[in-house]
Amino acid sequence: MTIALKNNITIHPVVEQARCTDFKAMEFFPALTKEIYEENRSWLEPDFVDPSDGGLVLCIQGFVIKTPQHNILIDTCVGNHKPRPMRPFWNMLNHDRFEKGLAATGLTVNDIDYVMCTHLHGDHVGWNTRLENGRWVPTFPKARYVMSDRELVYWTGREKDNAASCPWITDSVLPIIAAKREQIVKSDFVFNDQVRFVPSPGHTIDHFSVLVGPAGADVLITGDMIHSPIQGKYPEFGMMADYDSKQAGETRRKLFDRFCEEPTIMCATHFPQPSTGRVRRWDNGYKFVATDS
Ligand SMILES: [Zn+2]
Repeated sequence: MTIALKNNITIHPVVEQARCTDFKAMEFFPALTKEIYEENRSWLEPDFVDPSDGGLVLCIQGFVIKTPQHNILIDTCVGNHKPRPMRPFWNMLNHDRFEKGLAATGLTVNDIDYVMCTHLHGDHVGWNTRLENGRWVPTFPKARYVMSDRELVYWTGREKDNAASCPWITDSVLPIIAAKREQIVKSDFVFNDQVRFVPSPGHTIDHFSVLVGPAGADVLITGDMIHSPIQGKYPEFGMMADYDSKQAGETRRKLFDRFCEEPTIMCATHFPQPSTGRVRRWDNGYKFVATDS
């Protein structure tokens, strides 16, 4: 679903996988007990949890922001030909869904001016690079790749210590640095008055979300600040791969509180399509309401 904002800005999802159910909800959220699940089952199934096997329904996507001056891609999914032995369902993908999704926005890889990585996990950096004659090269040849300084230091350090623990850094981040296409910023970076980063640490060490458009009519692209509406109702629920789940929970509560009386539309990267909603209070937590209601 395309979102049109003021000032000739539009936001377009680029979906690599519309329905990933390979993670089980109870494993993904360690604090999600059977009892809590039963209490919430009526609204979680079937949209957010697959009733047949408890699979958490996730969308794997990035977002193109078109502005009169720039075309920006936020996050680049899993990518093709990437060895991911720890995630068999993302191992050595070879399909054209991401490319077709990009084409549907009316752009080619040559039209992307900036790639912005909310964080450096494998399902957000994969299409940073593509395989060409056995080498990983930037997929978007004219783009600057914007990354947080602390995030990059953390992951390159980890890659040096144990490359097998983060193969996506080896094949999807380091080649960008080698090609000198990176732009290193702080996680509160202001790109311009229409595109600003909002620090949202916890899921990773220096994660950021991206606020787009004029105040009062804006959109927050969450990245992995939240994975499922379960973490709206229970903001303190960490997910299994968090760097610091306590901090991630504090981040969610702080950001939901900031936006829960605002018209801001959330583009929640991993929510099933349409992946959009406004955040509103719900008991001691928050819910997402459709943007057309
Ligand atoms: Zn993710």
